[in-house]
Order: sequence, then structure tokens, then C-alpha cells
Amino acid sequence: FNEENEAGGCIVHIKYEAKISLEENKRLQELDRMKSDFLSTVSHELRTPLTSVLGFSKIIKKKLQELIFPLVQTSEKKVNRAIKQVNDNVDIIISESQRLTSLINDVLDLSKMEAGRIEWEMEPLAVEEVINRAATATSSLFEQKGLTLITNIEDGLPQIVGDLDRLIQTVINLISNAVKFTEQGSITCGAKAAGDTVIVSVIDTGIGIAGNDLEKVFEKFKQVGDTLTDKPKGTGLGLPICKQIVEQHGGRIWVESQIGKGSNFSFALPMLKGNKNDVKIIDMDA
Ligand code: ADP
Repeated sequence: FNEENEAGGCIVHIKYEAKISLEENKRLQELDRMKSDFLSTVSHELRTPLTSVLGFSKIIKKKLQELIFPLVQTSEKKVNRAIKQVNDNVDIIISESQRLTSLINDVLDLSKMEAGRIEWEMEPLAVEEVINRAATATSSLFEQKGLTLITNIEDGLPQIVGDLDRLIQTVINLISNAVKFTEQGSITCGAKAAGDTVIVSVIDTGIGIAGNDLEKVFEKFKQVGDTLTDKPKGTGLGLPICKQIVEQHGGRIWVESQIGKGSNFSFALPMLKGNKNDVKIIDMDA
């Protein structure tokens, strides 16, 4: 429909409704399933040879250290240079294979989640346990960078229902990113109750994210910012995986950030209704 604007011009509003038939919908779902199957198969096929590359490279590295390094003291300059070169190249093979392995694992994980092929092990649990386990798993990252992790968990938080390992994976992803993009300051991992949800947040004092990139970071393979050239290598799949996990728990995830000041990644999960003390255990033998 048309309407006149203040300057006397004409604004044309166009309403467009896209409808797809039931058959078309079915076909799209089938294509989606085929895409996920394809991704799973390719990932599995890639993982097997890669495991060999990684395994044998580690053996070569060990042998190098055992056999050749004692010779370094006695050998000529030329031999020393060759030994160093072999050693450096093996290091590259190892780190690149590890990177490829984690990319394949992430692709496989995400495609399984998208296709609904993940078995979720839901149980009542305390968010405190999730955060403490993620903190332990990431402690070496903090040591390497000389950063500190502050945990700030509200007292008496209600339980939630979730898959413990998957939620730990989510918090590990967020903390690892926070460490990756922070050079100084601290990282705070907190949890608090808000309405009928429990909110977990990972706050850093790092490089921050520009306003128009905030939504993009949850998209697959998206890496943002102007530090793309020298930024730490990643897969661009960590946050989409976090999003899938949180949404499968009936929650939501978001980010607030300011360039140069830092980022706050938070997710909210529904709290467990009723008190666990209200659950009565009936003794059938009595
Ligand atoms: P990866 O970290 O492997 O690149 P992610 O999906 O985890 O992939 O993150 C996507 C992108 O979002 C990152 O490459 C980075 O540009 C941005 N990002 C994520 N976390 C942070 C953070 N804490 N601070 C600044 N930028 C971040």
C-alpha cells in the first residue's frame, strides 16, 4: 500500500509472504539431513588418517630427542642446523594436525547437534560445579598468559537441569575465548539468579567486539575484528556450538562488548522448578 511522507513524496510498502508447500518443506528437511550425513562421514574419514599423522609425528619427535639431540654437542654446525630444522618441522606437523583435529571434532559436534543426533544426558545439577570444573580445565591457559580467573557465584543458587559435560564444554569455550582475546587484566566467571533463570557470565578485559559484529560471532566460521591477520588461530565454531548447547537446554546466549574495554558473554538457563527437598522418596518395601 502507498502512503504520503512529510515532504509530499510517496512511500511504497510492499508486503511479501513466502509460503512453501508441505512437499517442499519435506524435501528441504531431507536435503538438510543429507548435508549433515555428508559432513559426519567426511569428518570421520578425515579423522582416521589424521590420528596416524599426529601419532607418528609424536613418535618421531620423541625419537629425535632420544637419539639425535645428544649428538648435537659433538656435531658440526651444518648437522646441527639440519637437526633443528627437522625438529621445527615436526613441531609444525604436530600443532597443525592438532588444529585440524579440533576443527574436525567441532564440525562433527555441530552437525550432530543440528541434526538432533546428540544424546543429551540431562540431570539436576549445580551451576557452581559447571564453573569449577571449567575453571580447573582452563587453569593452564591462565598460567601461560599470566592472567587470573575470578569466580563470583551467588550463594544459594537454585539447581538447573542440564547435561554436565556439555555445559562444562560451553563455559570452557567462553573462558578460552576470553583468555585468547585478553592481554592484561582479569577474567571473571560469575553466576546469579534472575527471574526464573540462572545466568552464567564470562567477563573479560580484552580487545572487545564492535557493535555491528556482535550478532555475527554466533554464526559458523565467523571471526571478526581488525586483528584477523595476527589473531590467535581458531575454528570459528566455538560460539555456534555454545549457542546450540544453550538453546538445546531451553536457554539463550548473548554478548555485550565494547572495543578496547572487553566483552561479557552470558547465557541464561531455566532454573529447576521446585526444591529438590520437595521430592519425596517412597519406600516400596515399607
Ligand atoms: P574462534 O574463537 O575459534 O575463532 P568462536 O566461534 O569461539 O571461534 O569465536 C568467533 C569469533 O568471535 C572469534 O574469532 C573472535 O573474533 C570473536 N570473539 C569470541 N570471543 C571473544 C572475546 N572474548 N573477545 C573478543 N572477541 C571474541
